[in-house]
Amino acid sequence: MTKDKTNVESFDLDHTKVAAPYVRLAGVKVGQHGDEVRKYDIRLKQPNIEHMEMPALHSLEHLMADRIRNHTDQVVDLSPMGCQTGFYLSMINHDNYDEVLDILAKTAQDVLDATAVPACNEVQCGWAASHSLQGAQALAKEFLDKKDEWRQVFKAE
Ligand code: ZN
Repeated sequence: MTKDKTNVESFDLDHTKVAAPYVRLAGVKVGQHGDEVRKYDIRLKQPNIEHMEMPALHSLEHLMADRIRNHTDQVVDLSPMGCQTGFYLSMINHDNYDEVLDILAKTAQDVLDATAVPACNEVQCGWAASHSLQGAQALAKEFLDKKDEWRQVFKAE
C-alpha cells in the first residue's frame, strides 16, 4: 500500500505495526524561549480493527480532560483522534514519560470513580446529547487493565 509523506508525524506512523493500547511520544516542539511541548499518542483501540463509539469517547474526553488536571498543571491539551482510536495529550515543560504513564493511570482510575460526566450540558458542550458515562468507564477499565502494555508501541516482529 502506498504511503505518502505528509506534514503530520502521526500520518507517517505505520498504523498496521502498532499494538494498542500504548502511549507513544509523538513529537517535541521547542519554543523561542526554550519551553518544550511534548505530544503523546495515547492509543486505546487497535487501528482499523476497533474504535471507540462516539458517546463513550466523548464522555471519556470530558472526564479525562477534567481529571488529568488534578494530577499535573502541565497539560496543554487532551483531545480525541478523529479516527476514534485514541487521544492526543500535549504537555508543556514535562519530559518524564514514566510520570505521564502514572498520571494517565490515576486519571483512568478517576474516570472509574466518577458518578457523572462533567460539562455534559448544552451550555458547556457542543453535543450534549452524545454522552455515555458507562461507555467511558468501560473504555477506561479496558485501558487501565492493560497498563503493563502501554510502553510497547509496536507489535513484536
Ligand atoms: Zn463535549
